[in-house]
Amino acid sequence: MKKIKIYKLTIDNQEKEFYLLKRLYEKHLKSDSFLENVMRVRKIIYVANSRDKIRRIKRYIRTQTLSFRPRLVTIGEPLFELLYDNIPPEDRLTKHVITDAYAKIILRHLLIDKRRYLFPSADFSLSPETSDFFLDWIKKIKEYNLHLSYREGEIKYRKDASHFDLANKENRFNERLLSILGKVFTLYEQFLKDNNLVDVSDKSWWVIDHLKPNLLKEYSFYIEHLSILRSIEQNLFRKIYQQSKTVSLLDFFYPFPGARFTTTGIIDGDKEVIEVDKTERECFQEIKLHPFGKKEHEVDAIAKIGDNEGFDKKIVIVSPDIDDYEKIFERIFPRYSMYPPSLSRRKLSQFPVIKTCLAIFEIINQHFRRRAVVSFLLSPYIKLLKEKEKRHIDRITREEMIVSGNDWKRLIDRQAEMSRVLNFIGELTILKSKKGKAFIEHYLSLLDSLLNIKDETEIKPYNKFLEYILSFKREPVVRTIREFGIKDFQRILFSYSQSVKVPIEQMVDERIEMLDLEETSGMNFERVFLIGLVEGKLPKEPQHNPLFSEKLLEEMGFPTYDMLYALSKFNFESVMKSVKKIYCSYYKKDEKGNVFLESPFLQGMEREELISEKDRVYTLLEWQMSTGEIIHKGEVINEILLMEDMKKRALLIRDGIKRLRDENRLRNVKSLLLSSNEFHEYVKKRIDGLSKGISAQGLETYQRCPYNFFLRYIVGIGELEEPEEGLDNLIRGKVIHKILACFYKRRLARKIEKNLLNDWEEMRKIALDAIEELAPGVRDRILLRLELISKDYESLLHKFLNKEVKENINHMLEDVEWKFTGKDVYIKCDGERLGLVGRIDRIDRDNDGLIIFDYKTGIKNNLPSNRSIDEGEHFQFPIYTLAVEKCLEKVIKTAYYVINSKEGISIEERKIIPQELLISNISRVWKEIKGLSFEPKFKSNCATRCIFNELCPEII
Ligand code: SF4
Repeated sequence: MKKIKIYKLTIDNQEKEFYLLKRLYEKHLKSDSFLENVMRVRKIIYVANSRDKIRRIKRYIRTQTLSFRPRLVTIGEPLFELLYDNIPPEDRLTKHVITDAYAKIILRHLLIDKRRYLFPSADFSLSPETSDFFLDWIKKIKEYNLHLSYREGEIKYRKDASHFDLANKENRFNERLLSILGKVFTLYEQFLKDNNLVDVSDKSWWVIDHLKPNLLKEYSFYIEHLSILRSIEQNLFRKIYQQSKTVSLLDFFYPFPGARFTTTGIIDGDKEVIEVDKTERECFQEIKLHPFGKKEHEVDAIAKIGDNEGFDKKIVIVSPDIDDYEKIFERIFPRYSMYPPSLSRRKLSQFPVIKTCLAIFEIINQHFRRRAVVSFLLSPYIKLLKEKEKRHIDRITREEMIVSGNDWKRLIDRQAEMSRVLNFIGELTILKSKKGKAFIEHYLSLLDSLLNIKDETEIKPYNKFLEYILSFKREPVVRTIREFGIKDFQRILFSYSQSVKVPIEQMVDERIEMLDLEETSGMNFERVFLIGLVEGKLPKEPQHNPLFSEKLLEEMGFPTYDMLYALSKFNFESVMKSVKKIYCSYYKKDEKGNVFLESPFLQGMEREELISEKDRVYTLLEWQMSTGEIIHKGEVINEILLMEDMKKRALLIRDGIKRLRDENRLRNVKSLLLSSNEFHEYVKKRIDGLSKGISAQGLETYQRCPYNFFLRYIVGIGELEEPEEGLDNLIRGKVIHKILACFYKRRLARKIEKNLLNDWEEMRKIALDAIEELAPGVRDRILLRLELISKDYESLLHKFLNKEVKENINHMLEDVEWKFTGKDVYIKCDGERLGLVGRIDRIDRDNDGLIIFDYKTGIKNNLPSNRSIDEGEHFQFPIYTLAVEKCLEKVIKTAYYVINSKEGISIEERKIIPQELLISNISRVWKEIKGLSFEPKFKSNCATRCIFNELCPEII
């Protein structure tokens, strides 16, 4: 009987997933003696394709209630680790093993320390990323066991390396870079030797060199891996094939150009090939192919299908680049109450506390930019300021016009909390000047003094992060970081926090599985979503290599593009042929706007239009785009809509709606919406969104003209349009609002007293800044200065201060620009919750209660009357009253504060209506919105006053 057996299957074999495992149980674990089985199972090693496959195997063993489990490992490091653990203690390594994270630090040190020797000319950029490039090549040299000679020297790792003479080859590689790599390799190896260290590749070779025949001879191996092996793995497997007791392998009938590099292709000696049922099965398959605009749409479609079809069948999601979808899964799935297992672990860099730790680097890089510093200090993990002080920091730093850099010194004369902020900036300036160990120490002590971590879920990631930084204080790392500056540490800590994952407490659904296409060969599925099938990812594009041409790489023993292509194709077909129901999809654009084509593997496959993006509209932009497309009927317009700036886009959409109007298709808006799934579905979504928080202005717009509301709040044309240049009432109004808000924010909880008039200079200064910031042209600025703060005659704001002292004396400033949202303020309409949003210009307090002021800069005649408030045409004050009474306390007065040069300053009080009346007024309007009633309400002044008159079916 031959020692090596190869089971060869067709890739559509429905048994393939556990075929090898079943042979293992049949052969070794069928004894009636428990003890015998226990002894046997300890000597069986099963090499699986991936960690996901191991999970599947464990589940299978559980469901089959099998009592014994072989040792399960994946190819690569876990297999080497398992074998290393079996090497007798006296033969184990006496050197310390370093991970890639530390190897990178060592390389960076060498590059800085020996920069003159390595890079004699100054044109070589020595960025922190350079160490990644050299580490990648050092690993390749070791894993492929290369011995390269070139004009200026040679790179040699082991004595048994096969020699490759580059000097005799055509010069199609970067000789200078190769020569630097040679020097870096020698320095790196010497460093490891001097410090009694080895890296992961060294350890793997150690395992190969120290595997004695008597160790392997007791073991039986089951190997299901079919992939391209590097030299290091080829060496290990050859040893296993020669010395172990028995070997069983899985293989497939598949034309594979790189067979000589695979687990089955490298077998030298005798073998028995068992061909398993070669007939191809006719099995009914349901295949659907969906093109989508973006990755988000692919994920959303999966969730919706899962929702519709149910979870009784597992949901398996496979992609050539599954990691690319990680964030999108996290964002979209929980919306559908789907919690895939991948959500149970999170990268360190995703924890807010670690983000806070890393933000220090960004603050320094951005020269202490105000926004970066303030948002850092507002983080709940920062204990530098008390809650109340935190609220003030934003305001004070704005008022003091802190932008960045030395501006912070201006806080020196402010209150105590600002001096703490100033000290913090000082500490960061010191940190910036430190290097190496001193930097680490200062950084750690800064974190220690700043951080406030109480939550269990944050302590774990923080400890992990801290543990890594603390390891820098040990030899030999501490010596290597002496020249490292802020950029080095930023990169090191960032890449560490990106690569390490920490488990979080999260309920996950085991019925959802996510796999990279490369991990799937040999698995079977019932229902699978194959997503991200775009050219460049399937098959994978070869990466540019600055050192060697493709041809040279092939000659050196690296896998060729043909081989990688065939492997991709094998994995793809293996999934396609093992599934009953397959949803394939690809996206047309990525998040950066790059355009993608479908994978060539999808050629000939029919597209399923049922759930393609044509029927699904997800965002405003897409609705707008499809409006453009429907009207213009062509791909080109879509492209234009996507690429153009907001203003141009708005013009195109306007143009589209104008055509609808001109073609008389807007006669009945409701029937137009109902005639198209896209319109209808989109409008429903927008209305749902509005139900989370609608403003008084929105409701009033609807009351004035439902069609105007439709264009503004549903189509969102207003959102796309940028304000026109030139001084108009809108800008004047914004400037006056801003000045008064700034002025009174400094006076919160203080009473208005006579001496307010003494603060005129302060108001002037604030006004000058606001005009500068908000008025677009020089002429506008001059006009506003004359109107608002001129010294020559009594200016508008001076009049305002007089009015304050006269009418509002002894009022206490309760709040300015007080915001409320639909979360806190809402009403019930037909049992559903309708959120209300708004921002109140000013709330005063007098002896009897609260007073709401709304600044108006237009003329008095345009103000809502008491009657119109009663009758539900105007909602502003009633909604403000409801919000204040719900969140603060009783309102005794609501009034418009008219500030306008033509009519001067006046306060116009309005009545407070009962809440029940407000609720019934809003409910009436809301019902009509939900009923898609958006017909125009024409008035005589429409043609001159409405900005949408060109789009209005009433004006044609
Ligand atoms: S022109 Fe008049 S009727 Fe037409 S949308 Fe504007 S406000 Fe409504």
